[in-house]
Amino acid sequence: MILVDKKKICYIAGTSMLDPQKIWQSALGELELMLSKANFTTWFQNTFIITIAEDTGEVAIAVPNAFTKSWMEQRYNAYIMKALNNVSQDKIKRISYQIQTARQVIKPPDATIYPLSHPKLGGVIIQEKVDEFGFNKRYTFDNFIVGSGNELAYSASRAICEELGTRYNPLFLYGDVGLGKTHLMHAIGQLIRRNHADKKVLSLNFERFTNDFVSAARSGGFDAFRATYRGVDILLVDDVQFMIDKEKTQDEFFHTFEELHRKNKQMVITSDRPPKALVELQDRMISRFEWGMIADIKMPDVETRIAILESKCKEKQFTLERELIVYIAESIKNNIRELEGALNKIIAWYELSRKTPTINSVKDVVASFLADPSKRALTPKRVMEAVAEFYSVSLDDILGTCRKRELVVPRQITMYLMRQELNFSFPTIGLQLGGRDHTTVMYACDKIGGMLEAEERLRLEVENIKQRLYG
Ligand code: ADP
Ligand code: MG
Repeated sequence: MILVDKKKICYIAGTSMLDPQKIWQSALGELELMLSKANFTTWFQNTFIITIAEDTGEVAIAVPNAFTKSWMEQRYNAYIMKALNNVSQDKIKRISYQIQTARQVIKPPDATIYPLSHPKLGGVIIQEKVDEFGFNKRYTFDNFIVGSGNELAYSASRAICEELGTRYNPLFLYGDVGLGKTHLMHAIGQLIRRNHADKKVLSLNFERFTNDFVSAARSGGFDAFRATYRGVDILLVDDVQFMIDKEKTQDEFFHTFEELHRKNKQMVITSDRPPKALVELQDRMISRFEWGMIADIKMPDVETRIAILESKCKEKQFTLERELIVYIAESIKNNIRELEGALNKIIAWYELSRKTPTINSVKDVVASFLADPSKRALTPKRVMEAVAEFYSVSLDDILGTCRKRELVVPRQITMYLMRQELNFSFPTIGLQLGGRDHTTVMYACDKIGGMLEAEERLRLEVENIKQRLYG
């Protein structure tokens, strides 16, 4: 077990001392550039750095489950390593992945600890160390910007903290992805923990409930399972849309719900759609969800989005000109996670280049979030294949090191297109092309850019390749 030693935490670009969370934020900004959006959100949600030991260069990253862990180890380790080293001046030597969940309850001094991973439940589980992880500390009411779109959800969330179990039970929050449901749920949990240290708060994703239930079924540990879930004072369940298709788990949840409701135990449920739209669920479950208060969250208006960006800048101690903030807020309209993602990308870019962001650099970043669907489907591999096919060379030729002109040009065009069409960063392109240095990529992109202005033939060739990509 490595303990976080504040003095030993990495320095970024030799200036400010940053904590693991900031390093991870910057690394995520990098990873977002390297991976497809779907992969990025699927695998990197709910990950965080547990510890960094600068002396040994070891980083421990928390992942939410065993599946993600093996995926990280097998598929993404090299990317993560690269991203972390990009933001830490190559200080990272080794990464370990540990299954932990950010949704576990923090143990405040002297409070009742609620063991999320009851040993008797067996199977799936998580290392004990309850006080080390917990609710996401950034997800508090103080950090939540209230505006059109989320006012109702916000007020209802505050209200239940005042009158636990009696005012609105359950509180059902719904809205599209990235609009702050999990944020509000963690804010509720943390406020209740603070004001009622004696209450047992259990906060989890519905998938976690399912996993525990399945393990209990396998090991015959139903008593322990029920004692755990039905013995809480507050139950916070994120993303119940995952109940669909899980008949037995749904039954079990229904009875858990009934019992807690009867005992006036506060419940908060989140979902990506309103109860009525969860049509695959049993009617009795849907009607229970409608018993209390239903509040939807919509994307806030542009003023609120500006305020959110300003607050995130402050949180990250990053200065961005007002004009640029407004540009981002006006462009990204559907998802606050993306709004924040764009900011993280800009910060990562700044950390690497140490250049003050300009409207052009910001435009590039924003464009990558707005890319049309056909562009989104584009992968580096597709770019490589299209170029190779067009010039009748092999993928190995593109990835290789042979300096013949008939191979060098296609290789450089590949880099150029990855930059133009995928908005990949130079280091990422280098990585995609068999581990080339980012300066090689910069040179290639410049060179092809220049040649395109001068050479009509090359321009036609590149147009042709693009047509293949999108045709
Ligand atoms: P959801 O659970 O609805 O998919 P999250 O709660 O994970 O969305 O929110 C996505 C990101 O956006 C988080 O980083 C969260 O802090 C941020 N966020 C969402 N709404 C707000 C808000 N009103 N103020 C500040 N940050 C917000
Ligand atoms: Mg969520």
